[in-house]
Amino acid sequence: ASIPEGQREAWKKHSVQGFTTKEQFEDETVRHIETTLARSLFNCDELAAYSGAALAFRDRLIIEWNRTQQRQTFADQKRVYYLSLEFLMGRALDNAMLNVGLKDVARAGLKDLGFRIEDVISQEHDAALGNGGLGRLAACFLDSLATLNYPAWGYGLRYRYGIFKQEIVDGYQVEIPDYWLDFNPWEFPRHDITVDIQFYGSVRREKDEHGKTVMIWEGGEIVDAVAYDVPIPGYGTSTTNNLRLWSSKASKGEFDFQKFNSGEYEGSVGDQQRAETISAVLYPNDNLERGKELRLKQQYFWCAASLFDIVRRFTKTKKPWSKFPDMVAIQLNDTHPALAIVELQRILVDIEGLDWAEAWRIVQGTFGYTNHTVMPEALEKWSVPLMQNLLPRHLQIIYEVNAQFLQYVEKTFPKDRDMLRRVSIIEESQPKMVRMAFLATIGSHKVNGVAELHSDLIRTTIFKDFVTIYGPDKFTNVTNGITPRRWLHQANPRLSELIASKLGGYNFLTDLTKLNKLENFLDDANFKKEWQEIKHANKVRLAQHIKDTTGVSVNPKALFDIQVKRIHEYKRQQLNILGVIHRYLTIKSMSPEERKKLAPRVSIFGGKAAPGYWMAKTVIHLVCSVGEVVNNDKDVGDLLKVIYIEDYNVSKAEIITPASDISEHISTAGTEASGTSNMKFVLNGGLIIGTCDGANIEITREIGESNIFLFGNLAEDVEDLRHAHNYGDFQLDPDLNKVFEAIKGGRFGDAGRFSALCNSITEHGDYYLVSDDFNSYIKTHELVDEAFKDQEAWLEKCITSVARMGFFSSDRCIQEYAEMIWNVEPLPPKE
Ligand code: PLP
Repeated sequence: ASIPEGQREAWKKHSVQGFTTKEQFEDETVRHIETTLARSLFNCDELAAYSGAALAFRDRLIIEWNRTQQRQTFADQKRVYYLSLEFLMGRALDNAMLNVGLKDVARAGLKDLGFRIEDVISQEHDAALGNGGLGRLAACFLDSLATLNYPAWGYGLRYRYGIFKQEIVDGYQVEIPDYWLDFNPWEFPRHDITVDIQFYGSVRREKDEHGKTVMIWEGGEIVDAVAYDVPIPGYGTSTTNNLRLWSSKASKGEFDFQKFNSGEYEGSVGDQQRAETISAVLYPNDNLERGKELRLKQQYFWCAASLFDIVRRFTKTKKPWSKFPDMVAIQLNDTHPALAIVELQRILVDIEGLDWAEAWRIVQGTFGYTNHTVMPEALEKWSVPLMQNLLPRHLQIIYEVNAQFLQYVEKTFPKDRDMLRRVSIIEESQPKMVRMAFLATIGSHKVNGVAELHSDLIRTTIFKDFVTIYGPDKFTNVTNGITPRRWLHQANPRLSELIASKLGGYNFLTDLTKLNKLENFLDDANFKKEWQEIKHANKVRLAQHIKDTTGVSVNPKALFDIQVKRIHEYKRQQLNILGVIHRYLTIKSMSPEERKKLAPRVSIFGGKAAPGYWMAKTVIHLVCSVGEVVNNDKDVGDLLKVIYIEDYNVSKAEIITPASDISEHISTAGTEASGTSNMKFVLNGGLIIGTCDGANIEITREIGESNIFLFGNLAEDVEDLRHAHNYGDFQLDPDLNKVFEAIKGGRFGDAGRFSALCNSITEHGDYYLVSDDFNSYIKTHELVDEAFKDQEAWLEKCITSVARMGFFSSDRCIQEYAEMIWNVEPLPPKE
């Protein structure tokens, strides 16, 4: 409904412009505090100041959001839709201030009003709608898409509860629900944008007026999807894209007035609540799939709502369906949205009446699929009976897609009878299972891995047959990246400023390869001194956080050795803590003279364990138990401290990442698809100890072998080693044995609590090769100690590494996706 021509002048006269000056910012902030929040200068705390400032920025963002959406609609060109079940956004205010270039204005304005900007920013609750790397990648991609002016939308779920808050109580993880929506100024409810989503029911075959057979999906239940929009500002551009999150609500049509009127009020409210549970909670598993019906419901709810929205936007262009892939690119972040493939086929065939083959060409032309893992326990499979019940028509479509695909395979490879079984979307198990990675591969025109090694692995392992069937070009690599705006400029403002002072401005933030000029300053003594001072200040800040949250004092001059990420056996925090115990035992056996030569260390751990993952929880408990002993051992003093930082999340990462001397990325080779925190630590002037896994390999190639501490077995040897273990060829590393003896001797409390963890290595095949890599790990840490003694040389490694990190900007990733997979062009604003 547009305003008539005659009234548009009046409209334009009153059109909101958004603040640019300090005065205007103060006007807007105070107005929001006094009216929107109903507070006054007599009861305005830091939270109210945050709320007022956030609302002032939100207003500004939404004005640009509106302009961007209009521009993109009129431009009539292809858009990208990034479907991700997780968006780990973190805080928005600081990011918005920096991206629109008004942080200094806000700082001065808040100071006038009686507040320190840092205190105000830290009031914000993290938007934690994700588990770890996959969700944070989606957030970095949104930042790059907007910054590069791509017409792009994210689609996700608006969970009422994000990832749980972790508390450490008596050395154990305790999970607290994260209800984050009490006050969220960053979202705009769009109650006018509601989609009916159908579940259950049955399918009927019918002839239409032309005698054509049509499938009718009917009955079952309807749930409403309500859109909530989150504006995503680009850096240094007015482009403000949209993240649309769906929230579930009982359908108005569904609310059972019959029940209501007959006095069953509670029952009818119960139906309402059942509908709302669909988007209630984020599943807290990282790299692990469990076939829960509610999770499948979430996936379909979100895919169906998003597809409806995308199709509606396309139909407004009045273009023929054949043009759909020229206007729409949909990227699947893992297989979680694979049902979108089936849903689009259903819309085209059942609702729009296209013939099957034409519809399927459109589907394949539209979708791209990003694989994130080759680990079997993380590959999604859904039971056929479950899907039959929940989505009967979709299961039929999957069977039809599979039948046509297998027919083609049989015809093309008649000699390989077993191939049909291997590549079928349906696994012939008990019960039968739908293999979502195969569905996603068959329904997409490109499949990509997220680092070179990982992309090679998918081509040679899980998708080997598909490479034979489709040829190698369907499979490609896009190595992950990170946004330098949040992970350098925002997290480490002083380092960003120092770099800008040398490079003549902040252009490196939008072209990260410009960092390479930093190598010209390796002889600049003042520059290096300042660099070192910044690192020290960042360590002091983290030390303060550790003191405030754990009560333990750590020496900021010590070597900070950090491993923060989800707790997982494949990521091998157990290797790290067993190495720490080895260090402790070594210190205890040293003479005072020997101890003097040792660099003091702080071993810092952080990360959440999935609530049902007992082994991961045991690792947390071991770290805390070791810390309890070591930190209270006066004989050891500053030589070693062991810290568990609770509730690792994005805003903690922003404090932790700039404070590392060394960070640990030590997954069993071939298991970590990419890793992204490895990139963040190096970009902030820390070195890495790591295995030849994921993006560590490309980081090494970029920064040089002498600037990284690599150790351990290679991916190509892992299978043979595991095989050998299973056939009894296993010798426990003698140093590791001493560590186990100490644990078993009760040195860190009741040994029984750690027996399952120890036995997984000594008795049950050591699947993650902890013992095989232990010696190499310990030896490499000795090299780290040695290297750290020469601070001059260490600093040179750090600066050189930062200078060579340009490749790992998520801007580079997005450009690769845009060119290789999406075929979309940027649409810069006319400024
Ligand atoms: N969790 C959070 C809060 C993060 O910020 C990141 C990345 O920076 C990750 C998890 C992923 O870490 P990694 O790549 O080490 O698995």
